[in-house]
Amino acid sequence: MIKLKPSVEKLNAYFVNDVPYKVKLDANEGSNYLLQGGLNIEDFNPNLYPDSDSKLLREKMALYYGCNPENILAGNGSSELINMVINAYCEKGDKVTSFVPSFSMYQTYCDLCGAEYEGVETEKDFSQNIDKLIDKSLEINPKIVILCTPNNPTGYVTAKQDIIKLLDNVKDSIIIIDEAYVDFCENSIVNLINNYEQLIVMRTLSKAFGLAGLRVGAMIANEDLVRQIWKVKVPYNINILSQCAAVKSLENINLVNLYTKEVAILREELMNNLKKLNFTVYDSGSNFIFIKSPVDNLYEKLMICGVLIRKINYNSDIYYRITVGTKEENEILLTEIKNIISGEIV
Ligand SMILES: *Cc1c(COP(=O)(O)O)cnc(C)c1O
Repeated sequence: MIKLKPSVEKLNAYFVNDVPYKVKLDANEGSNYLLQGGLNIEDFNPNLYPDSDSKLLREKMALYYGCNPENILAGNGSSELINMVINAYCEKGDKVTSFVPSFSMYQTYCDLCGAEYEGVETEKDFSQNIDKLIDKSLEINPKIVILCTPNNPTGYVTAKQDIIKLLDNVKDSIIIIDEAYVDFCENSIVNLINNYEQLIVMRTLSKAFGLAGLRVGAMIANEDLVRQIWKVKVPYNINILSQCAAVKSLENINLVNLYTKEVAILREELMNNLKKLNFTVYDSGSNFIFIKSPVDNLYEKLMICGVLIRKINYNSDIYYRITVGTKEENEILLTEIKNIISGEIV
């Protein structure tokens, strides 16, 4: 077999868990509430290439995000955009830093281009000491600093003053603020894109919009920076169906507000119920919760009942990340957990 390049050879392929389930709470997907009416085949021309620059989509996004279309680069999920930014700045051996634990794809994209990912430990309760990230950045001079807030998988919301402190102190690195879940906590710093030339904000329609299957995300930054990253964008990166469906969804943004508020209420309910069952529950500003379980092998036991959650190994401890489901889904989850607990006592 022909040998892969060394930086790729050592990687493990990413396969997504594919088991039968009745309730899926492992990937932070939302409900399908924006496209219930479906799409008409007349709404788009599948014979034509899509608009390569996603112009209409960016206009609609700009209204929701509170910026100009020129501040936005639309991507095939924000994952594509994160990859593009890492690729645009990093060559083999260049450094990227962020708090750990955080989104595992940052490491993956660094590996793909040979960049070195250096994590900065969060505190015992998974809060972030921003000074540690600033000190690390000044020490290793990374090409990119990534801060995910609310953080995946811990749910921690970084205070705006901390983000501003990071931006004021680290001027020689690109700073990506990954706001994949910010719609759930109204803590966005998109309004600062013209104050900091190194700032990039990442947003996605995969979580709060419930449109993970469309693969649509946005990179938001000052115009000059957006034009730079455009150089690494492949043509026609968002297919015509996704552009069309995303535009249609963005015409109902009033519903997004209602949905995210409802999820926040369900999240607090779920957190309280799990606390009563002796779970350690960390504060969360997103559509998932991060917990430590009083029962062993919770992931495996719930999987047998058809309930999928995410298991997170960190510093030789086991944690779980559970998406906040609908009222009914959360009830099924709690019922199965109670059954598991009472089964252990017998
Ligand atoms: C889900 C997620 C994304 C991106 O998702 P896309 O579906 O690629 O838009 C980015 N960052 C974090 C932290 C996420 O959890």
